[in-house]
Amino acid sequence: MKRTEIKSLLQTNEFNGMVNVKGWVRTKRGSKNVAFIALNDGSTIHNVQIVVDVNQFDVKKLEKVTTGAAISVNGQLVQSKGKGQTVEIIAEELEMLGEADPNKYPLQPKKHSLEFLREIAHLRFRTNTFGAITRLRHAMIFAVHKFFTERGFYNIHSPIITGSDAEGAGEMFRVSVLDPKNPPLKEDGSIDFKKDFFGKETNLTVSGQLEAELAALALSKVYTFGPTFRAENSNTPRHLAEFWMIEPEVAFNDIHDNMDLAEEMLKYLVQYALDNCEDDLDFLSKRQQDAEKDKKQDERQMELIEKLNFVLAHDFERITYTRAIDILRNSKPNKKGKFVFPVKEWGMDLQSEHERYLVEKEFKKPVIITDYPKKIKAFYMKQNDDGNTVRGMDVLFPQIGEIIGGSQREEVYDKLYARIKEMNIEEKTLWWYLDTRRFGTVPHSGYGLGFERLMIFVSGMSNIRDVIPFPRTPQNAEF
Ligand code: ATP
Ligand code: MN
Repeated sequence: MKRTEIKSLLQTNEFNGMVNVKGWVRTKRGSKNVAFIALNDGSTIHNVQIVVDVNQFDVKKLEKVTTGAAISVNGQLVQSKGKGQTVEIIAEELEMLGEADPNKYPLQPKKHSLEFLREIAHLRFRTNTFGAITRLRHAMIFAVHKFFTERGFYNIHSPIITGSDAEGAGEMFRVSVLDPKNPPLKEDGSIDFKKDFFGKETNLTVSGQLEAELAALALSKVYTFGPTFRAENSNTPRHLAEFWMIEPEVAFNDIHDNMDLAEEMLKYLVQYALDNCEDDLDFLSKRQQDAEKDKKQDERQMELIEKLNFVLAHDFERITYTRAIDILRNSKPNKKGKFVFPVKEWGMDLQSEHERYLVEKEFKKPVIITDYPKKIKAFYMKQNDDGNTVRGMDVLFPQIGEIIGGSQREEVYDKLYARIKEMNIEEKTLWWYLDTRRFGTVPHSGYGLGFERLMIFVSGMSNIRDVIPFPRTPQNAEF
């Protein structure tokens, strides 16, 4: 018999036919005569209930139907008499596909901590939480491509191995085939990378932006959506060493167009989740509310679906860095010494505690900060006429802080070149980037959205390790 997915079974109106379902047992309960098996196949958060007349089956076989076991069931699909479900299956044949020894299977039908589940990341897909997150993640990936496709953007695969450092900040993972114990050396004793695979030093990319710019200066509207890598040793709930980034780049857009695009995109993605992931969001909302119970009243987050609707309902506040510093300097927590990093001078980088204050306490909605001091931003950002600031923009969200970082790019060759020199960036690794400012240069803008930061927001999870299947963080690359 052909297998039917549980998702479509639960939506059916045709009863009293034979069906086949396959899946993993979530629970089995019952009495001497009848057993109820909750079966899940990942197609939906909901289980289908299998009703088993115990007397008609081999006892030994039924005993092995335990949490985590995989089974195939043929049976009659009937309307359910039980509460909270619409259909159930009266089992006629039951086949064991894969046992799961209850004395060894680590996932029991009880609440496990997220920390414990990270240690069994190979099995955590089988929990309601990670099933929901995985489906939501897929929906968001699809929505990203849909959003850009509907607006005439082209998806670009930027390289993963790169010879340049987009941020000029270091903190990259080296890619090399040289023997670390015995590398070829130059006369001065330094490593001879000419003998390495690519004949030069190469790393895993931290961003696809520079390559996206090249494409935008021909195709007008492009975006990348690829893995990025950062060897920064930041053990926070918002940083991964390997994460996925969405980077649109648009010719002829200035910083205001760039902000409009970012806001429109974020709202589109949130709306898509609300429209297409109702069951999973309902579950994640309950999970979040449960987790919030342990927190102090004033640290509790808004209920998930309310929070998502809240973002849709408000225009993002747009302020300059200079204004942000003014607000922060005069803020209560700053005056009372509550910030870990006190806000004193214009020019300091904003920490996530400051970003969250602006979003959660001051404006109570997402905030876009623009016109940052050039000293704390990358070389490629468009320089303002004041000589001190650049046309960068960060989009700040509740709970997360920075979710997007972007800018209008410096399109004037001389200004860009001067900045590269000033910042001691090796121009010989960027000759091709500079070339675009020599041939048909135009104003253009773009930004990077950290996909997992978006996932934190949309799922209501509080740790970035729980919104990617296999997190890569310092000292952790097990699975
Ligand atoms: P942060 O200040 O939060 O460390 P950043 O300024 O280094 O971020 P950008 O270089 O501007 O980040 O990267 C663009 C976006 O990529 C960020 O807005 C964020 O959403 C995401 N991002 C950056 N670093 C990480 C990371 N280590 N893990 C997950 N997402 C990240
Ligand atoms: Mn940034």
